[in-house]
Amino acid sequence: MGISVGHIIEALSLLGGEAHLKDIEQMVVKIAPLPHPKEPQASIRARIQERCAETASYLQRENLFESVYGVQEKKGFWRLRADPLNPSSPDGFQDGAEAFVEAEEGRVNLKIHLRRERSKKLIDAFKAKLTEPRCEACGMSFAEVYGDLGGDYIEAHHKIPIAQLDRSSTTTLDDLAAVRANCHRMIHKNNLMLVKELAEFLMLRKK
Ligand SMILES: [Zn+2]
Ligand SMILES: [Zn+2]
Repeated sequence: MGISVGHIIEALSLLGGEAHLKDIEQMVVKIAPLPHPKEPQASIRARIQERCAETASYLQRENLFESVYGVQEKKGFWRLRADPLNPSSPDGFQDGAEAFVEAEEGRVNLKIHLRRERSKKLIDAFKAKLTEPRCEACGMSFAEVYGDLGGDYIEAHHKIPIAQLDRSSTTTLDDLAAVRANCHRMIHKNNLMLVKELAEFLMLRKK
């Protein structure tokens, strides 16, 4: 039911890469579609342990998570490994994992997507270029609504459709769309719908 490894990766990314199980749980239940399992935390812990080489439950597939204080300490703090996507890294995929990688392509791409949206240098350059910050989905102007309080409180969304993401290519400023936090959440919540799809949807609702 509901909770996948992809959701846990997204939650941890949103939480800055590292968090306690109960915070991961709070974030995952916001992202994952209903119905949720009766005990989301237990289910999340099980998914994490299956993708953590230091645990007995490790599935010998990609090694995505690690315990912050060591598995034996049982403190419940987990983080995303530094670069689980790089096969040459010691923490990378095990041999024979290619078929699984293929099946997990969408999730891997989600991680690339999130990573690119969190590239501080790129986002800073993108924001510096915006003369009049306005959400490209709903049209809200930050300056008009928030003025001095938070005219620059805009987020950057990576527009390349997830299936077309190329691991090796880099992101240019043209790949990014300015969106406000709410619209950004809507886009991600609905399977990374296109910014223009959300814009059209909102237009229709206004009528
Ligand atoms: Zn918006
Ligand atoms: Zn986004």
